[in-house]
Amino acid sequence: MTQSTEQTRPTLIDGMGRKIVNLRISVTDRCNFRCTYCMPADNVEFMERGELLSFEEITRIARIVSSMGINRLRLTGGEPTMRKDLPKLIRMLDAVDGIDDIAMTTNAFFLKDQANDLKEAGLQRLNVSLDALDKEKFRHVNRRDCLEQVLEGLKAASKAGFKSIKINAVAVKNFSETEILRLIEMGRSDGFEIRFIEFMPLDSDQVWERDKVLFGHEILDIIKAKYELVPISNSLEIGPASEYNFADGKGKIGIITAVSNPFCDHCNRIRMTADGKLRTCLFSTSEYDLKKLIRSEATDADIVETILGAVALKEPGHKINLDDFERPTRAMHAIGG
Ligand code: SAM
Ligand code: SF4
Repeated sequence: MTQSTEQTRPTLIDGMGRKIVNLRISVTDRCNFRCTYCMPADNVEFMERGELLSFEEITRIARIVSSMGINRLRLTGGEPTMRKDLPKLIRMLDAVDGIDDIAMTTNAFFLKDQANDLKEAGLQRLNVSLDALDKEKFRHVNRRDCLEQVLEGLKAASKAGFKSIKINAVAVKNFSETEILRLIEMGRSDGFEIRFIEFMPLDSDQVWERDKVLFGHEILDIIKAKYELVPISNSLEIGPASEYNFADGKGKIGIITAVSNPFCDHCNRIRMTADGKLRTCLFSTSEYDLKKLIRSEATDADIVETILGAVALKEPGHKINLDDFERPTRAMHAIGG
């Protein structure tokens, strides 16, 4: 980790006055799972390998954005652990001046073999996606029969000593209700914060409907029937989740009400797809082609100008709840969640 945070270029502040400090980098659109809320069951068209940014190209962008005040990176995908030599990329990013924090979101399938190398390379924090602890339900939602491997991956990650491991579960009506307390009990006993994310209209199958979302208040009702919760007052200023401590002092939970009460006012992130497109919102309908710039003669100053222009126009918020909502053309696995 390089903690010199000397900033040499204009700060990334958008038109709403939000300071952008966080870049999510998708390293692949490929995945070994086919989660129903994200990918189709089959016939997925993936990006050509030559379209993916190389590690050097990703690191060049990281260097540029860190000089504009971004100090936190999150690797995602698709499934980031499917990208060959990922620890090498992490080492390269960790050496970038001003980057204080590197995190990753993963389905944990490959962590049994990779957790130690990732940690050693400089990865600090992990978000593991796990929607169900019931084997059949897991198979149904992830379209893969591999709950055991995921739990082993989680165990390996715990042993590797990451600064934090959070578990993300997508909250889907008539599916997640039975899993909420099970996940919470695992979190409380094994020391993971469990975070429930309202199902968003980003699924390739385009089956999302408002009626299929298990809303934050419904999740809280289920939890409060068994546990007393104490809200953490400033959590939305720090991240996307409304967080609660358990009143008995044993752990905390988070609820990401991306649909019912979006955190857009506090959003401090931008994203880069695996094929080098800058997106200023998960729900952006337009993108900025950084790969084209990188693979031409563009100077760092040209890239800075494009990023500044993009951030200035960052969407005030998503429009899921408005009549003129337009789904992004990319599904979640190709954006980088
Ligand atoms: N494959 C990795 C994983 O699943 O953790 C990283 C990529 S995945 C697209 C990132 C996150 O997006 C995961 O936590 C996943 O559960 C979440 N996600 C995917 N589709 C979603 C949707 N339609 N609504 C809400 N969250 C979603
Ligand atoms: Fe793969 Fe993650 Fe999408 Fe599931 S949510 S299909 S694990 S990219």
